[in-house]
Amino acid sequence: MANYDYDLFVIGAGSGGVRAARMAAMSGARVAVAEEHRVGGTCVIRGCVPKKFMVYASEFAHHFKTAEGYGWTVEGATFDWPRFLAEKDKEIARLSGIYVRNLQNAGAELLHGRATLTDAHTVEVAGRGTVTADKILIATGGQPWMPTELPGCELAISSNEAFHLEALPKRIVIAGGGYIAVEFAGIFAGLGVETTLVHRGPNILRGFDDDVRSHVAEELEKRGVKVLLATQHTAVEKAAGGLDNRFANGHHCESDVVMFALGRVPHTAGLGLEQVGVKLTENGAVAVDDYSKSSVDNIWAVGDVTDRINLTPVAIREGAAFVETVFNDRPTRFDHEMVASAVFSQPPVGSVGLSEAEARKQYGKLDIYLARFKAMKYTFTGQDERCLMKLVVDQATQKVVGCHVVSPDAPEMIQMAAIAMKLGVTKAQWDSTCAVHPTLAEELVTMREKYVPLGMGQVA
Ligand code: NDP
Repeated sequence: MANYDYDLFVIGAGSGGVRAARMAAMSGARVAVAEEHRVGGTCVIRGCVPKKFMVYASEFAHHFKTAEGYGWTVEGATFDWPRFLAEKDKEIARLSGIYVRNLQNAGAELLHGRATLTDAHTVEVAGRGTVTADKILIATGGQPWMPTELPGCELAISSNEAFHLEALPKRIVIAGGGYIAVEFAGIFAGLGVETTLVHRGPNILRGFDDDVRSHVAEELEKRGVKVLLATQHTAVEKAAGGLDNRFANGHHCESDVVMFALGRVPHTAGLGLEQVGVKLTENGAVAVDDYSKSSVDNIWAVGDVTDRINLTPVAIREGAAFVETVFNDRPTRFDHEMVASAVFSQPPVGSVGLSEAEARKQYGKLDIYLARFKAMKYTFTGQDERCLMKLVVDQATQKVVGCHVVSPDAPEMIQMAAIAMKLGVTKAQWDSTCAVHPTLAEELVTMREKYVPLGMGQVA
């Protein structure tokens, strides 16, 4: 074997890259990781973690209303945005520090700087010179896609900037109907910002179950978010009082901040990938096989840069499977089936398996179980928040193939449901589970009646 500086060189110290680097180093490999920004990647620095803190911060307005319904007097509650940002950033710095220490404790070397491949075994790290490695792992993640052709696009922000706004705006327009748009609409509305969500499609959260989509849209509106569907920006212009949002349907509205959350793209540009023969997909992601290997024999890729399922735990599992396969001689592929996910809207969504529409395509005849109800907590607080729980069952095998929940703590519930569904649970086994009372989740195991939509004799 040629004499390389490292056995493994990882580009990108986010969730997938760090997990792979640590595990490979712990198995005895000589490992280096390059990171051009802060260690921790999207999840820790500008994604899941700070977003969840913002969700927590914004939920208090709703909790205060609930508290009043329970006899509390909540007077003079105010929110200090700069103080919150400072506390959040302190915690993010602490977490990033833990990531750095974990890498070092495992014996991996951290190189700060942008890494570019010059050949399949050689990496140039800005400011550090050139190093060589037997194997390379690309774990550079993704970045917000911005509609740069749109007039005035440069006046808008992406989620990256939303974490550090100097002041909380009075009015915000958020474009997009995916995870990020819906989560930030809830965050800003909760913090008292006049919030408008603009989405080009007929409903938000494409890909989720249709009942979930309409339920979340209704609940968003109850929380004060103005939801504009079937239109999109044609321009953003400067106006006397802020920014003017121009829409394709001829309407316009002013806001102080415009945020685009129109999807994320794999971060593959400028890494030298094409020059060394790494094939990219149409979306610009690194094309990989089931073992995360690219078209070049010694180069692998994991996480959002491969655009499979763009979630932190998936990147971590892909990184771990790569090390098992390549360094521990245990060929392992991460199974991308039945991966649960959560949208931290308010109320949040937990979802695993197929939507009703997808299941109908795949299985044909289904049994649907659906419940909509008011949570016990709100029965006398005057709040009109509703929960939704839905099970999608394949009629032939009686397997539960989809579980969808919109309710407080839905992300916590769905983790448990995912275990049973991954094991292939049937509806009868599901129902044999005794309820935990009084909880919201008990509704999930007490849905006995098949759902028949209004006007239909029978669900097919
Ligand atoms: P999504 O892919 O979820 O949503 C993108 C949205 O932008 C869709 O509503 C899409 O509409 C719309 N859109 C795309 N292109 C255009 C365009 N040219 N003009 C107008 N609208 C457009 O992307 P996000 O940015 O919200 O999130 C990226 C990914 O990050 C997610 O898919 C998810 O994997 C991950 N993520 C996960 C989170 C979690 O686990 N809680 C939280 C945040 C992000 P249409 O539906 O019509 O295509």
